[in-house]
Amino acid sequence: MQQRRRIVLLFGLGIVLPSLLLGYLAFRGIQNDRALVEKERAEEIRRTAERALAAVDDRMADAESALAKIAAISVGTSSPEMAAALERAAVENPLIEQFFYLQNTRGILFPVANLLYVPDGWRETGLSPTGPAGDPAGLRAAEQLEFRQKDYPRAAAAYRLALRSAQDPNLAARILNAFARVLRKSGLLTEALSTYEEILGEHGSVVLPGGIPLGPSAALEAGLLSRELGDSPRSLRMSLALYRSLIRREWTLEKSEFEFFAGRVKGLIRELLADGAAGLDLAQFQAEFDGLAGEEAEAQGRTERALRFQIGAAPALRAKIAASAGQAGQGSPSVRLTLETGGLSYDVSVLSPAAGADGATARIWGLIIDAARLREDVLRPALSDLFPPGESSWVVRGRDGAALLSSEKAASGRPVFKTNFVSNFPDWALEIHQPPPRLIKTFLLSRRGLYSFVFLLIAGILVFGLILTLRSVSHELELARLKSDFVSTVSHEFKSPLTSIRQLAEMLQSGRVPSEERRQKYYDVLLEQSERLALLTDNILSLAKIESGRAALKLESTDIAALVADVTASIQERVRHEGFTIGLGVDGPLPPVAADRSALGQAVTNLLDNAVKYSGGSRKIEVRASHEGQAVAIAVRDFGIGISQEDRARVFERFYRAGDALTRTVKGSGLGLALVREIVEAHRGKVLVESEPGQGSLFTILLPVLPGEGK
Ligand code: ADP
Repeated sequence: MQQRRRIVLLFGLGIVLPSLLLGYLAFRGIQNDRALVEKERAEEIRRTAERALAAVDDRMADAESALAKIAAISVGTSSPEMAAALERAAVENPLIEQFFYLQNTRGILFPVANLLYVPDGWRETGLSPTGPAGDPAGLRAAEQLEFRQKDYPRAAAAYRLALRSAQDPNLAARILNAFARVLRKSGLLTEALSTYEEILGEHGSVVLPGGIPLGPSAALEAGLLSRELGDSPRSLRMSLALYRSLIRREWTLEKSEFEFFAGRVKGLIRELLADGAAGLDLAQFQAEFDGLAGEEAEAQGRTERALRFQIGAAPALRAKIAASAGQAGQGSPSVRLTLETGGLSYDVSVLSPAAGADGATARIWGLIIDAARLREDVLRPALSDLFPPGESSWVVRGRDGAALLSSEKAASGRPVFKTNFVSNFPDWALEIHQPPPRLIKTFLLSRRGLYSFVFLLIAGILVFGLILTLRSVSHELELARLKSDFVSTVSHEFKSPLTSIRQLAEMLQSGRVPSEERRQKYYDVLLEQSERLALLTDNILSLAKIESGRAALKLESTDIAALVADVTASIQERVRHEGFTIGLGVDGPLPPVAADRSALGQAVTNLLDNAVKYSGGSRKIEVRASHEGQAVAIAVRDFGIGISQEDRARVFERFYRAGDALTRTVKGSGLGLALVREIVEAHRGKVLVESEPGQGSLFTILLPVLPGEGK
């Protein structure tokens, strides 16, 4: 046990500990490398993401340079040159939602009239056309007749008179409008209709006092009149034309005016469509109407956004421009900022006011970026290109954290990379998600695989060493146990014959032996015991010799029959007084065999000795020598206790003794049969055993016949 512990301790210190240490180092190496891989990957992702952001930045820079070009045109905002430039810029930069400029006195203005309407009350700040006070007397007289006296025929005549003397075309248009109105009131519908059509055709853009243009009201009246006259198709065509003109901004209207006219004309169109009319392709009109309604809704959204910006953004814009002017980035051509006003969010880029410009009159140009377009037309394709699906997924989040845009494959878990946009504009964040790298894959496919192999190797060595150690330990222990068993049995074996020899010798010496017969008997016992001692010593020595390879057998042609007869006679002599009879049979003449006489004699002696020892109550033993094919057989048979099947396989093992140690009454060392086998095998022979418990045993030595002999 002590030894076992020592070996295990040595194994632990010598193999397990260094292996653990190596394993730990390899593990640390793997970890380090993994961290490195992760870092490289994160770096790669960062670079890729920055390319996507750069794409966005580039497109915005394009829009800004277009803006700079516009600002550089030093002509009025309503000049045709400016209009053309704005048109071109809008086509080339679909990301631009709106150009605008900021003027200290007037706030935010839009150079492009792409809005459905202007805010209510807008016109008050603008020019006011001539009002009733400046009207000629003829017109005022006609109006008296129309509104006070309600004398329409005379009013019509008065308007016609006033019209003839009117020099100003605007004034003439207004009088024509009043004339048409009176015609209608007088029931002259056809005349009224043609007058309205004349106004629409020639004076549509004339503005009434208060700023309302004549066009829309004339068109609406014409539509109503043609319906009253029963010409529905014409009415429908005129109404749709009016609706289209409203949406396409033929006239500048305030919001409430636009809503009034649009509401009226839409109501009329719906009624006409509901009425139906013979010979009319209603479906086509309906489709046209639906298309226009969609256009209106879209334009209305854009207009509302722009108006809210116009109303609310100026103070914030000024504040931010002032703040950024004081900052280090003063040299940069434009300021990008995200504004919240009227519940809407605007991504705005403003050209920095030229240094030294007079703040009171300088126009600050800016543009609103179309964030939806930027997302869908620039960011999505860029991200889809840069992060191929299947590997990574991405999400673009707004300021509130809601996902604005995401890859086809949904992102999950914590992002491996997160970044804001260049100069935080737009105010979004980009997140990249990626599944963690497969450990095995990463290491087996790269040079880092080495670590894994080292790892495996160490584990292999450990297991191998463990098995080897355990095996050698248990082998050692088994051997040690056998040896100590051997020592105790052998010393016991020696002790009892020696004791009896000493006792008998003492008695003989003291002369206290009563009779000669008894004395003779003692001599016999002395002889027998010393012979047993001699046999035992011989066995041990021979075995030791054979084992160490020192026993060179002296093989010579031997007469087996004679050898067997000699051994049998000697044993018979020894055991006669115990009542044994050993029968000897030799079958015919035996061919000579190459044998070492003394060794083979010892083997046969051992077999016979065992037969005697394990005979139990039986007193009969048979020895037979015969010629069996290519071999000479020496068989020793007894009729004693026999050997059980499992013991039969092991009786030839060294120190092995069959049966329970307690029930073993017969003295022995477990060496006899081991020696027999060694000797026989040294003769290239075989030894066999057949036995049945309680029936007795048959041991047979087979020795090869000398070549050329036998048969
Ligand atoms: P030993 O006789 O000294 O014990 P051996 O090697 O001669 O050692 O025999 C090994 C064992 O085989 C014996 O202990 C015994 O149990 C068994 N054995 C040998 N010969 C016989 C036999 N003829 N009959 C029964 N058992 C036998």
